[in-house]
Amino acid sequence: MPHISTLSGIGPKRAEALAKVGIVTTADVLNHLPRDYDDRSEIRTVENMVPGTIQTIRGVLAKMPENVPVKKSGFGKVSMTLTKAALKDGTGTLELVWFNQPYLSKGFKPGQEYIFTGPVKHTYNNRIQMLSPEYEPAVDTPLGAGRIVPLYTPPAGFSQKTWRALVHQCLELSEADTRDDLPAELREAYRLCGRAEAIRNIHFPESDDMFLQARGRLVFEELFFMQLALFQIKERAAEQAGIVFDDLDHTPFVKRLPFKMTRAQEKVLTEITADMQSGTVMNRLIQGDVGSGKTAVAMTAAYLAVKNGYQAAIMAPTEVLAQQHYEAFSEIFAPMGIETVLLTGSLHAIKRKAVDEKINDGTAQMIVGTHALVQKKASYHCLGLVITDEQHRFGVNQRFTLKEKGDTPHTLVMTATPIPRTLALILYGDLDISVIDELPPGRVPIKTYALDDSFRPRIHEFIRKEAAAGRQAYIICPLIEEGESDMSSVLQYAADLRRALPNLKIAYLHGRMKPAEKQEIMEDFAANRNRVLISTTVIEVGINVPNATIMVIENAERFGLSQLHQLRGRVGRGSEQSHCILISNATAPVTKERMKVMTETTDGFVLAERDLEQRGAGDFFGTRQHGLPSFMIANLYRDMDIMKEAQEAARAFIQNNKAIPGNEKTAVYNRLAGVL
Ligand code: ADP
Ligand code: MG
Repeated sequence: MPHISTLSGIGPKRAEALAKVGIVTTADVLNHLPRDYDDRSEIRTVENMVPGTIQTIRGVLAKMPENVPVKKSGFGKVSMTLTKAALKDGTGTLELVWFNQPYLSKGFKPGQEYIFTGPVKHTYNNRIQMLSPEYEPAVDTPLGAGRIVPLYTPPAGFSQKTWRALVHQCLELSEADTRDDLPAELREAYRLCGRAEAIRNIHFPESDDMFLQARGRLVFEELFFMQLALFQIKERAAEQAGIVFDDLDHTPFVKRLPFKMTRAQEKVLTEITADMQSGTVMNRLIQGDVGSGKTAVAMTAAYLAVKNGYQAAIMAPTEVLAQQHYEAFSEIFAPMGIETVLLTGSLHAIKRKAVDEKINDGTAQMIVGTHALVQKKASYHCLGLVITDEQHRFGVNQRFTLKEKGDTPHTLVMTATPIPRTLALILYGDLDISVIDELPPGRVPIKTYALDDSFRPRIHEFIRKEAAAGRQAYIICPLIEEGESDMSSVLQYAADLRRALPNLKIAYLHGRMKPAEKQEIMEDFAANRNRVLISTTVIEVGINVPNATIMVIENAERFGLSQLHQLRGRVGRGSEQSHCILISNATAPVTKERMKVMTETTDGFVLAERDLEQRGAGDFFGTRQHGLPSFMIANLYRDMDIMKEAQEAARAFIQNNKAIPGNEKTAVYNRLAGVL
């Protein structure tokens, strides 16, 4: 597949930025599918514009763009620039307005015909305006109008328009070499279109019907390979001999905990210890809602492994979480004479060497870290137990690579994402499932409110009061810095809040900070040296500061239900009343519905089902970035029928594939290696 740097418009800088988000070849660009489509087949005139909808129009600018500065107040927001222009088409005049894109005013040529698409509305003086329209010169076959137009979530630095053009370029380039990994026999049996045709129509559908064909084919393909992979996983996992632990008395550890295990934690521990002495290797998924106390269970299991002379490793998806686990483990295990080490990618080379040595010679008994744990150079002395925390953030393959670091070690994977049962069986068919279905005692249910930003001053007053009483608050903003969009940013919000509440101790955190800096900020917050932590979603999973009682989520419409639930789970971890405040001005019915569901239930299962209904499964598992390509397009909620077909096809392929030519089989297995 051609490298993206061969595309026009992609210089070394952009290529590098794209590589960071995993886009390296034209195939990667094409695998980034539209999130939605806009039917712009119809081009209208000014006269028959319908305000309140998104429309497309074609014409020459009668008034060239002009920039007008405007003051705007509000938290995390800055004053902005309007760019205004007007278009005439013989039936009337249409005003065009853009926000904060002053550079646009230079981009238009007088006399040139353009196509504009955007929401249209009435102004106060009864003229009509098109807001922030997308535009392109009117050519014979424009990409953004006169057709069903794909809408993407473009990587940073690209607009819809520039990304769309890039996709189109890739399509033209790779048409010839879009390999089809599905055997011809299968394609015929299930009436599936070819891959090249599917890819073309999933991006630029020729018609509704062609789109459905394309989607059906791609969903089938994903699910087929996922099913094949699962058959293999199940085979591998079946009845492997496991290490037998003799000493399963965990009381010396448990009595050091500052609390008594809940009945649910005890039950799961019983299941774990039964596995550990069974002679068969443990493969167990622990599912427990946010705050249910999975860490204590993991620690107990790790303690048992160490007690029996083995090492235990626990892998977390972020450095911030790994650090937190490391501190919790060291605090309790060091006094017991058990050594814990931290292994992350950002570890300084000299320190890294020392840690590697300890892991290698067995001095390190508990090994806490990020995916650095599975890198090639990490070599373990005698790994007896591997634990993955927040499993849904990892790909299936990472679970296996950690396991392969030992000689059939026992495996625990933990997740707070309540996976609907049907899906759990499909995804984790090789695992036994334990559920922690009870929260520690004394928890007060979190109160959730969905508000618009007119409430912000009152919310700040509320934070000030709670802080005065010694408690702490998180404020989540979607952006780090202010960008083109109107969304709140961590940096701007922190500056504004510091001005508004000068006596409050405020810190902020985001993913672009150095790990050491992040660590210091988290430590300060955990020790209550700061009362407010303004952050991006880097704190989404696992973070545990029981004294924090307020979670404010700005631009809450930007987040899915499962993510909101995870964020909300950062509070309500102590015995005080906690509050979660969702701030959004969005009026779209789906968004309102999402906010409403959040205020109505704190049950992770209900939220997960709803989330699955509303979004693609890829978003649900956050796996887009984490190597489970199987969920690029399929929605396991809606595509159950295709799933059944794919499962049947996969089973038949394994059992009875004599009719399929050798090269087609090889293609299937090569592709499968990429899935696993
Ligand atoms: P999660 O399941 O989300 O990973 P944690 O393991 O972080 O939850 O636990 C959340 C909080 O509950 C922690 O502060 C932990 O110390 C506390 N906790 C865990 N188990 C119990 C228990 N049995 N009784 C009281 N508090 C507990
Ligand atoms: Mg956790």
